[in-house]
Amino acid sequence: MAGGNERSMKVLKEVWRRAENSLCADCGKPDPDWASSTLGVFICLSCSGIHRNIPSISKVKSLKMDHWDDAQVQFLAKHGNAVTKATYEAHIPIYYYQPTYNDCQVLREQWIRAKYERKEFTEPGKQQAYSDGVKEGILWKRGRDNGQFLPRKFLLSEREGCLKYFTKQD
Ligand SMILES: [Zn+2]
Repeated sequence: MAGGNERSMKVLKEVWRRAENSLCADCGKPDPDWASSTLGVFICLSCSGIHRNIPSISKVKSLKMDHWDDAQVQFLAKHGNAVTKATYEAHIPIYYYQPTYNDCQVLREQWIRAKYERKEFTEPGKQQAYSDGVKEGILWKRGRDNGQFLPRKFLLSEREGCLKYFTKQD
């Protein structure tokens, strides 16, 4: 039914134009033109590539090139970045560094998997419960000289029983 689909496309454009959907839900990059039809978030091309690695959780489609059926458009309209973030980013520990589009793919993939695959931030304290022996990531560390918080790579090793951090990215 062509008429119905035209109306759906109009709704899709309206939802896409909402302020909450003007930045990528995962890295904050402006003007995302992809979306996840199962999570209801608007994301950038680069993050959509990471979502493709978790196909059981996220199905991504281009907002420009792919066909969206009525049910998928309704799902996007009901969810969107604000509603989905309220669930998946409800309890992010204050020390947790959220990568942006300036960060590397590895860091962003860890963030996206923690958020949607392991649902680490849906309930308080869930992140600590998750442990696989060695954990690597970025924490905020207050600099000694100027007191400003700077992102620092850290490595938590269960075997060595220590937390290391590095002052340089590599
Ligand atoms: Zn992104």
